[in-house]
Amino acid sequence: MTNARGTPTIPCPECGTGITIDVQAMLLGQSFECPQCRVTIALADQSGHEVEAAMERFEALRQSGSGDPS
Ligand SMILES: [Zn+2]
Repeated sequence: MTNARGTPTIPCPECGTGITIDVQAMLLGQSFECPQCRVTIALADQSGHEVEAAMERFEALRQSGSGDPS
């Protein structure tokens, strides 16, 4: 099930811009660059806790937002 508005973003630790991430790719170790200030974020990075928090939020949204029959 795909959700057009389900794209997760993480607020940039430097400028607060929402950085669009791909959760799967991030879990595989890919880093993502802020389009505004070029800061890169990644799971193994010092901003990892930001990523974790965002992913938790994303998971919570997914569980409460979609009427998953199971
Ligand atoms: Zn930034």
